[in-house]
Amino acid sequence: MPVVSFNFSTLKKLTMKKLLVIAVAIFFCFSVIAQTTINRDPEIEKMVSEVSKDSLQSYIKKLVSLGTRNTLSTQTDPARGIGAARNWVLNRFNEFARQSNGRLSAFIDTTTLQPDGRRVDVPLLLGNVVATLKGTDPNDNRIFIISGHLDNMRTNVMDRMGDAPGADDDGSGTAAVLECARIMSTHSFPATVIFVAVSGEEQGLLGANYMAEKAKKENWNIEGLLNNDIMGSNNSNETNIINNTKIRVFSEGLSVLDTGRNAQNVRNLGLENDGKARQLARYVKETGERYVDNLEVVMVYRNDRFLRGGDHTPYVLRGFAAVRFTEMNENYYHQHQDVRLEDGIQYGDLPGFIDFEYLRKNTCMNLCNLANLAKSPSMPQEVKIDTKKLTNFTNLSWKAPKSGKVKGYYVLLRETTSAVWQKKFFIADTKMDLPYSKDNYFFAVQSVSEEGNESLPVVPTPAGR
Ligand SMILES: [Zn+2]
Repeated sequence: MPVVSFNFSTLKKLTMKKLLVIAVAIFFCFSVIAQTTINRDPEIEKMVSEVSKDSLQSYIKKLVSLGTRNTLSTQTDPARGIGAARNWVLNRFNEFARQSNGRLSAFIDTTTLQPDGRRVDVPLLLGNVVATLKGTDPNDNRIFIISGHLDNMRTNVMDRMGDAPGADDDGSGTAAVLECARIMSTHSFPATVIFVAVSGEEQGLLGANYMAEKAKKENWNIEGLLNNDIMGSNNSNETNIINNTKIRVFSEGLSVLDTGRNAQNVRNLGLENDGKARQLARYVKETGERYVDNLEVVMVYRNDRFLRGGDHTPYVLRGFAAVRFTEMNENYYHQHQDVRLEDGIQYGDLPGFIDFEYLRKNTCMNLCNLANLAKSPSMPQEVKIDTKKLTNFTNLSWKAPKSGKVKGYYVLLRETTSAVWQKKFFIADTKMDLPYSKDNYFFAVQSVSEEGNESLPVVPTPAGR
């Protein structure tokens, strides 16, 4: 085996140019090592450790005990129906508000709907239960939302009388929303976080439509919405696969805003995998896997599953970045089914089918993402890539974010065929030259806070066009 000997006289023989090459090589080795180190923000790590299986179980038990939460069910019975469910969630939010130093406030946001000839057959008072944890930075108007749906259904979606437990669909998502609110309300964040238990999902995404339309009209700066729907059970009914180490994040590639010149740009630059929702999904995967052990976030490159809809879609359709979390395998004996025993098969969405350890991990994944986003500075501005010259390098520049204190920036790089970012370079400056060809890689830039919380990434715009 050859031994490399290295002494001072050898060193002197090296030209400055060679020394420079060695220095650059050492720098990149360290960059790669730094990239594989897990840096957890201690505050977020602590919050994640507070997510409790017992809390999640108690929320679902209570929701199931209300008999049905069908959107058309009673709103006057204090112990049964959607009205009781809304009030119970509101009371939990109000309890959490008391520990929030006045930052968390909650209410039931109602609207009246008329029969629509589809899934609403009577005039209906629809209500989303909304808790807002106001951001502490007056210059920061960003909003991050976690959503789950409170309502549920029997086999017949119009059946408002019979029992419908809805433990997983969507007791699981509602429980995740409540648990994140419980823990995050004792902390403060520069950006605003909204926790919402939506109604009318099964009746046609009514509550989410109402809220997304309001957000659009009022110009809310929603930078990310995490929709949780069916994320607490671990098995498939056909293939008997049991898996509680993976959760899916569904995201669309192209945004509804990608039309006209925008769409032309997407085509020219090959950015069909870099739309807002897809960037959010990529971020969620990286951050989720950083903070939650034994959990893989699996990106699915489509907005939703076949034959199903979700509350993220009304936001997606209005140009907001929104994604859906759903368990890795689904058991259709348990979804949208009357509780019954038939041919030896137990049908119905019962609490006994929830894997609370899995639900805990999935809730942690939501929480660390919301916290990391809400703690981060806003995104860097005017991120540009110099495309004026034919070179094998990449020259990026950007401006400081509108809000938040930055320690510096991450420049992200990935091959054009890679699903995830492969390299991450930290720099305190607002420009960076990289010895990688702009033709062969995708790039993006994130703002980074003192504690290491990253903003969502911004894909550079070609400069000089
Ligand atoms: Zn659902």
